[in-house]
Amino acid sequence: MSTATQLIHSIPVDEQTGAISVPIYQTSTFVQEAPGVNKGYDYARTGNPTRATLENIIAQLERGKVGIAFGSGLAAIDSVLKLLKAGDEILAVDDIYGGAFRLFTHIYEKFGITVNYVDTTNAENVFNAITAKTKLIWIETPTNPTLKISDIAAIAKIAKANRCLLCVDNTFASPALQQPLTLGADIVVHSATKYLGGHSDLIAGLVVTRDEELGTKIKFIQNASGAILSPFDSWLVIRGIETLHLRVKQHCENALAVAAYLETHPSVEKVFYPGLPTHPNYDIAVKQSKGFGGIVSFTLKNDTEEAAVKLVTSTKYFKLAESLGGVKSLLCHPANMTHKSIPAEKRRAAGVADSLIRLSVGHEDAADLINDLEQALQKVTTTSFQQQAATV
Ligand SMILES: *Cc1c(COP(=O)(O)O)cnc(C)c1O
Repeated sequence: MSTATQLIHSIPVDEQTGAISVPIYQTSTFVQEAPGVNKGYDYARTGNPTRATLENIIAQLERGKVGIAFGSGLAAIDSVLKLLKAGDEILAVDDIYGGAFRLFTHIYEKFGITVNYVDTTNAENVFNAITAKTKLIWIETPTNPTLKISDIAAIAKIAKANRCLLCVDNTFASPALQQPLTLGADIVVHSATKYLGGHSDLIAGLVVTRDEELGTKIKFIQNASGAILSPFDSWLVIRGIETLHLRVKQHCENALAVAAYLETHPSVEKVFYPGLPTHPNYDIAVKQSKGFGGIVSFTLKNDTEEAAVKLVTSTKYFKLAESLGGVKSLLCHPANMTHKSIPAEKRRAAGVADSLIRLSVGHEDAADLINDLEQALQKVTTTSFQQQAATV
């Protein structure tokens, strides 16, 4: 069966009524025939049929055993960290999502969990940083916002040899492009807010495990901590997943066109996109994923926050907003927005320059998006000339 067919038909028809759309079970509890005798559900925090359908779909899409749905991507990440105990260490990618950094540093370090950040694009760095206390390796690939690529299979081998878990935040690639569990990862997490939902209309998170037992542990945490996804939002994610392949294909096509355009622009210093052969880990990207995604970042020759702010406030189709993965194109200035919670030095060291701009390339015509960037880049260039003239 081809991937698109498999994806579409992983969404079941309702057995009871034949409804082709998954029913929304908007209920808190389920009537029991006798204490403990029920139809598989008792209380809706523990389990809800709409959510369970989504959990099955994502488990199939990621080629895993157990899927678990949460109220946000961060709640999903939080549930994985709750597998750890005081004294354990996490080895994490240095260019990590800002919210994950905040959670690791400001919540979990307080509970005695240490986090070491390394550049995981070189698997040797991971090998060298592992200690006897390392229990979890945390990577994102591609990363946010510099689109660094790490070799999932190579890091999975290191994790296995050292008896620690490998968790991959697969938000940027989505299972349409990359399936980390098939490359040896133990856990995949998603902010389903992004490509899986796909329409910028909800907040949701997902976890998938390769192993049944590990999945059961995280399901226990889901019920014990309670950060579940609602039935309606579960339904919205299911509806988003139905067109995931089509949407991701268009994101990839448009992003490649935009990246190629930016790479030749005289005001642009550097373009970050794993689909460009000039990307340092292009070979790994080709090896482990079916496409390069919809996110493109770039820096300006005029590497100042002012120039970046001028640009992000000059576009018409690219709307200035946090988040990504929707139909409408968005752009943001990570130093001032998504990565504000990371100290400036740490941020710059991880490659997030002051002028770095991240694009979430949507489904408008690529030519319109390129024209939009062209007129905005012209404004930035003009402004910097005017400033230079004024200081002379
Ligand atoms: C957005 C995002 C998250 C957090 O997800 P929320 O749904 O906003 O809680 C985690 N990881 C990555 C890579 C993200 O882009």
